[in-house]
Amino acid sequence: MMLSASLKNSSTYLKRTAPFARRTFSTQLPLLQRVSGVETVKNYINGKFTDSKTNDWIELRNPATQELIGYVPETTQDELKEATETAAAAAKKWRQTTVLARQRVMMDLQYLIRLNQDKIAENIVQEQGKTFADAKGDVFRGLQVVEQACALTTHLMGEKLTVAKDMETYMYREPLGVVAGICPFNFPAMIPLWMFPLAIAAGNSIIMKPSERDPGAMMMLAKIAAEAGIPDGVLNVVHGSVDCVNYICDEPQIKAISFVGSDRAGEHIYSRGSANGKRVQANLGAKNHAVLLPDANKQAALNAIAGAAFGAAGQRCMALSTLICVGETKDWLPELAERARNLKVGYGMDPDTDVGPLITVQSKERVERLIQSGANEGANLLLDGRGVTVKGYEKGNFVGPTLLTDVKTHMECYREEIFGPVLVCLNVDTLDEAIELINKNPYGNGTAVFTNSGPSARKFEHEIDVGQVGINVPIPVPVPPFSFTGSRGSILGDMNFYGKSGLHFYTKPKTVTSLWKESDSSHSRASVSMPTMR
Ligand code: NAD
Repeated sequence: MMLSASLKNSSTYLKRTAPFARRTFSTQLPLLQRVSGVETVKNYINGKFTDSKTNDWIELRNPATQELIGYVPETTQDELKEATETAAAAAKKWRQTTVLARQRVMMDLQYLIRLNQDKIAENIVQEQGKTFADAKGDVFRGLQVVEQACALTTHLMGEKLTVAKDMETYMYREPLGVVAGICPFNFPAMIPLWMFPLAIAAGNSIIMKPSERDPGAMMMLAKIAAEAGIPDGVLNVVHGSVDCVNYICDEPQIKAISFVGSDRAGEHIYSRGSANGKRVQANLGAKNHAVLLPDANKQAALNAIAGAAFGAAGQRCMALSTLICVGETKDWLPELAERARNLKVGYGMDPDTDVGPLITVQSKERVERLIQSGANEGANLLLDGRGVTVKGYEKGNFVGPTLLTDVKTHMECYREEIFGPVLVCLNVDTLDEAIELINKNPYGNGTAVFTNSGPSARKFEHEIDVGQVGINVPIPVPVPPFSFTGSRGSILGDMNFYGKSGLHFYTKPKTVTSLWKESDSSHSRASVSMPTMR
């Protein structure tokens, strides 16, 4: 009786979901607010794309051209409050839908994202600058988390145990209510997709704050989510920077925050959000080391290292930004420099481009300053990517692949996360020294070893204190059956993004212990034997 009532409720609640055939129309997904000229990016609150009433706007520029493509609002406190109220009201209804109903919405969401993958990728190229192929990968790696969300019926199954005569304890996971996601600029589709699909599939409503530097992909995903049947108020998108983030940290109705970004913002959000009693998961910066052993397959290793150091212009938290050459492999560096020199710097939609622009003029200046600091502190500038110009895109924030060799651990270029196409190379004599050096670095996001020796690989795997290890794999980001397991200085909080841990982050366990005495059953036969008082 109760079950059919709740099914009825959930189907009424989801009635606004269009028939499936209609939803395929969204291949022509509009770019919303910027179809003509310079326009403002809207908020998405209670199922409506609305203009902010703020007077405070952030410029949104194409990093390859500096073209002004829009203004992003510093959403007002009143609008943030409205998003919260709407999310809180929606969460109350959404949690009553069955997990099967939510699974169906996730299936439609994954289908529609797949259908619109190229359009989202194109938007990423315009706002973020990475190459079109890489931008498609950005969408695809996020899509894999949506696919995981489709499997939540199994992942959300509870547990049950008979603990005494007629007594059972069972555990199931309940949604938290309203949660929030705060995103960085470097994966404008993948990282929002780490957050809102699992949060919503688990029965929460969510307020997303994409990076103010490239919010377009999240806006497109919001439009798709509405078409997939995510009800009004369950997904909301607000924009802004510090004030908006501080509101999220302080608002009591928001129960949990997912954050990905820099150390500075992450440490602030983690401490402020936690102090306010919220659950916070925060993925921070990185310095990922590759170890090159003399028994490695030289050609394959050099290709992998060049791709992982300079791809996405080094703006990946899992970029291999540091190379440790063991023994004679330092003699391979001129060949690595040659490969790096041959990578084409350019506009992301040019199919020949390997390395796009950096996100802002300030990022470019910072990266160039750190290159110079390496040279000033005694490193050898084997390949200098500064001063590169791209025909037709002369104003772009381009820096070409750069190699600093003979780097020492005290140098600023080693200590700082550069977040640009710069590979810093250090020399050691043994694998033990390489392991010791990596374990001394405060970060623990990712690392990779290149070798043909099983024993060396095994030693590295077991002795290295880094959360994600690649063996002949340069960027070992796990797929969503696992979680993203960066460690040490690269994470605050102990619940990882996506995978089982991701679903656990957005839910809390409830245990129930029930006693239904068999002897109390009114439908059993009358006992005619003499009572024995046992
Ligand atoms: P960022 O910290 O500048 O911005 C991330 C978010 O925090 C944005 O939404 C921004 O509005 C907000 N923010 C920025 N400064 C703030 C402040 N002072 N107070 C409150 N909020 C603030 O990061 P970014 O430059 O967009 O992204 C690059 C960084 O993200 C790199 O350090 C990279 O390593 C890291 N990152 C880490 C992972 C990971 O999984 N470990 C993944 C991607 C990116």
